[in-house]
Formats: sequence, C-alpha cells, structure tokens
Amino acid sequence: MVNLLDFDLDTLTARCEQLGEKRFRAVQLFRWIHQRGVSDFAQMSDLARSLRERLPSLARVAAPPVASEQASDDGTTKWLFDVGGGNAVETVYIPEPDRGTLCVSSQAGCAVGCRFCATGHQGFSRNLTTAEIVGQLWFAEHELRRRLGPAAGERAIDNVVMMGMGEPLQNYGALLPALRVMLDDHGYGLSRRRVTVSTSGVVPMIDRLREDCPVALAVSLHASDDALRDQLVPLNRKYPLNELLEACVRYLEAAPRDFITFEYCMLDGVNDTLEQARALVRLVRDRVACKLNLIPFNPFADSGLRRSPPERVAAFAGVLQDAGIVTTVRRTRGDDIAAACGQLAGEVRDRTRVSQRIARGTITVVPAAPARR
Ligand code: SF4
Repeated sequence: MVNLLDFDLDTLTARCEQLGEKRFRAVQLFRWIHQRGVSDFAQMSDLARSLRERLPSLARVAAPPVASEQASDDGTTKWLFDVGGGNAVETVYIPEPDRGTLCVSSQAGCAVGCRFCATGHQGFSRNLTTAEIVGQLWFAEHELRRRLGPAAGERAIDNVVMMGMGEPLQNYGALLPALRVMLDDHGYGLSRRRVTVSTSGVVPMIDRLREDCPVALAVSLHASDDALRDQLVPLNRKYPLNELLEACVRYLEAAPRDFITFEYCMLDGVNDTLEQARALVRLVRDRVACKLNLIPFNPFADSGLRRSPPERVAAFAGVLQDAGIVTTVRRTRGDDIAAACGQLAGEVRDRTRVSQRIARGTITVVPAAPARR
C-alpha cells in the first residue's frame, strides 16, 4: 500500500492514469490531501464514488506518528516524529509576527558530523522518505490550522527551512519531490523564496538543485579557511571552500533570491576573532552576493565548545557590516526545549559510527582575541 504523501503531483497523476483516472482526478486528490489535510478518502466528496471506494485498498495518507510535543515559552513548538526502527526526528514551528516558519528534518541523524551540531553527534541512521519529509509539513500545517482557527489565516506555515536534522542534499532523491509538493499551487503553494534548503556544501548537488528546483539556498560556512573548516565541517575535505563558493556563484544564476545566505556558528575562541572576520570578508566580498547570518552556538553535552560572548559576536558582525556585507545575528528561539539551531537531536541509531569519529576528532582552539576593532 502506497503512502500518497510520497508523491508530487506529476507522480500522483501517473499513478491515477494507471488506474484509468484522468489528471484532474489527481489534482482533486492532491488538493484534498495537502490543502485541506484530509486523509479519509470517504470525505473527498468531489472524487468519483468508484475511486473513493477503490482507494482505501490501494493507498493511505499518513504522516509519521507524533511521539511527543514540547511548547516553548516563546511560542516555539517542537514535535518528535517516530520514524520507526528506534529513530525519531524533530520538527520545529517558529511563529513570528509576520510569518510562520517550519524547520523540517531530512534524515534520521546526519553523516556529515559537524563538530558543533547535536544532530551530527548523534550519528546517522537513514534517509527519510518523501512522505516522512512532507508528512512533517502536512501534520504541522493542518494541526496548527485546527488549533489557531481563523487566526491561522490562509495558511499557518508560509516559510519552510530544511534546517532540521540531516543534510538535505545527501537525501536528494526524497528531497526533490518534497520541495515540489511544497511549491505546487495545488499543494502548499509556497514561494520559492520562502523555501530554503540549507547545506553544509555538497557541491554537485547544489548544481543539481539549481537545475531541478532552485529555491533559496543557505550554506553552512562556519570558517574562513580550509584548515579550520576541515575540522568544523568534515565535508570540506571533499568540497573545499573554493569549489563551494564557485558552486554558490553558479547557483545565483537561477536562485529566486539574489543572494546566498551564509550561516556562521559563533564558537568561542575557535572562529570568532576579528582577524577571522576580516578573512571572511576577503573570502566572500566581491565574489558571491551574500548575507551573513551569525548563529550563537547552542551548547550541548560533550560538545567541548562554548558560545562566543555577545560582545565578540557584535564586534565580528561589525567588521562584516563595515565591509558592506549585510549581517544578522540570529535570535535563538526555543532554547528551553532544545529546539534552537544545532540542538535537534531526536533519537538515532548510529549505523555509521559518525559519533565515534567526532569523539576522536580534535579541534584547534585559537586564543580568543579581545573584542576590539
Ligand atoms: S550542521 Fe547540518 S550537515 Fe552538519 S552535522 Fe548538523 S545536520 Fe549534519
């Protein structure tokens, strides 16, 4: 039995045609599922009765079951979805005055193993299916609409960031149909500018995304030289900074926004000196149209890392801003429920022993420079 959350509209149409149904039936079905959140075929009143009666034996509409929910004092909500086999992934809803953002996971764990990331420390178990990725949005959107009532407006979630657990571009086969469902006017109808894929720098797949489905792109940079980035983001050894930045330049040719967002996690004494800020300016300015998003590190057990003090973050941001680079410092949300960036850990069976590799790794900590400019 297939899960219809696995299908973008083209695939659903092909399936319907195999059943002798026309494309408009697939559109009706798709709209019932994604726009109205209905999983019971009997309620899909404008479908032909014969189709309504056949579907329950062929297909289902099911998000992964919710294992737990936590609500933060700041309005952030975190759901833990049970994806079976001892794995669970996290999804976070972040309400803001002008938009509702959902942070979606793409893998149970992550094989990249970034040094500062709680998910990376959990190791990697498996890729999520398209249904498990879309299911996070399907559940959250319709659950929030039910709770918020008319206050939800036309939609509760109008911004999706693929920044939860996992490296989305290492699960491209499942990601691509999921993005298409998010963007489809018969699905969630999200703007390409309001769907962001965040990557640690899988260069060939950045090029594929540019060809197949260019949405907003965020790149986890975290260092201004290869030696340090090799330690913080191990994927850098395969795709070093020069190659990554060239891929970003190519991506901009098709991107829905005229800049790439670079994420930079501020680690006390590791990557937060003023000289490193200047090196960052030299690296990206005049090369890639970009915005810098400085992220206060969210400490977790056994990370061995500390958050940069606010004054050093401010001084670092000042160097970038003085060089004409638009720079923001991310406000942390959901700190109290471990829903902030880099804190999502879920529950993961580490099949690839990433966590052991990280534990063995060492990191060169440079002495922290005084926060002077
Ligand atoms: S930061 Fe992203 S790519 Fe790196 S380990 Fe965490 S989830 Fe994986």
